[in-house]
Amino acid sequence: MIDAYTRLYGIIGNPVRHSLSPAIHNGVFERMGVNAAYVAFEVSNLADAMAGVRALGVQGLSVTVPFKEEVIPFLDALEPTAEKIGAVNTIASEAGRLVGYNTDWFGAIEALQEKAELEGKMVLLLGAGGAARAIAFGLRQKGSRVAIWNRSPEKAKVLSEEMGCLHIPQLSAIDIPPDIIINATSAGMWPHTSQSPLPQSYLNSKMLVMDIVYTPLNTRLIREAEGQGCSVIDGLEMLAHQAVRQFEIWTGMKPSATQIKEDLRRALESRNRPIHTQWEGRFSRGDS
Ligand code: NDP
Repeated sequence: MIDAYTRLYGIIGNPVRHSLSPAIHNGVFERMGVNAAYVAFEVSNLADAMAGVRALGVQGLSVTVPFKEEVIPFLDALEPTAEKIGAVNTIASEAGRLVGYNTDWFGAIEALQEKAELEGKMVLLLGAGGAARAIAFGLRQKGSRVAIWNRSPEKAKVLSEEMGCLHIPQLSAIDIPPDIIINATSAGMWPHTSQSPLPQSYLNSKMLVMDIVYTPLNTRLIREAEGQGCSVIDGLEMLAHQAVRQFEIWTGMKPSATQIKEDLRRALESRNRPIHTQWEGRFSRGDS
């Protein structure tokens, strides 16, 4: 029930209409009896949007492409992890100050830890964008050995140096087969669903393969990894776990990750058409 006391939360991004975050957070607000609402703001002028957030007393925001780095100068403080990663995907209004957090790294690590111990593991991380930065940070925190490959090698080199990882300019350059492979690129994401970031021949049944792309969930990489007998983790896992942490930051209450995953799967199923066709023409890049 929305009334004069309802607190407002939302997501800023552009494009943003495909976001699953309203389905996640409104579901949890309702279940946990929090008088709050969560909406999507498609932002074209970030400075104006952030002035509006302050003026209207918006209590918290998720931040997605292309604003995860751009939003930092508009904040009053950064939580140390977000500062180290250099990207913010969560903003909380704390006594009138806007504080930036990063929950992507947490989401990825929680999802991985449900299936594997990370310390000492050899991880091949594909990508060097915002999500890859957060994941590289999280893996290093957990004591994994990380090799980073990216389509544009110079970005992977910079990220590897920053995070204490190994840079591999070509996939063939990795001598030990990785225990874990993580796709943090947009390869395979709608509309490029026929793409996979690496050849199927690279995969073997001892590997754990996580694809963080969730549009669609059943990416070519996930299908091929299953075909090779690998354990797999789809993009919904990270999305759900990062949202749990976000909700905790905003409210101090910890929602159930399992319930959020159920909500998400239901939200996806309730869209009658295949998920990608609804967003046709609306976006070309990813979000969280
Ligand atoms: P960025 O735009 O910051 O980075 C994109 C990355 O993907 C870059 O490394 C880019 O390489 C690479 N890339 C793009 N297209 C291709 C391609 N065709 N082949 C190989 N590499 C490619 O995006 P994010 O890091 O924020 O997001 C990446 C993906 O992760 C998106 O699909 C997004 O939806 C998903 N995501 C999922 C989350 C979840 O919770 N499940 C959370 C956050 C993101 P280059 O540097 O060469 O351009």
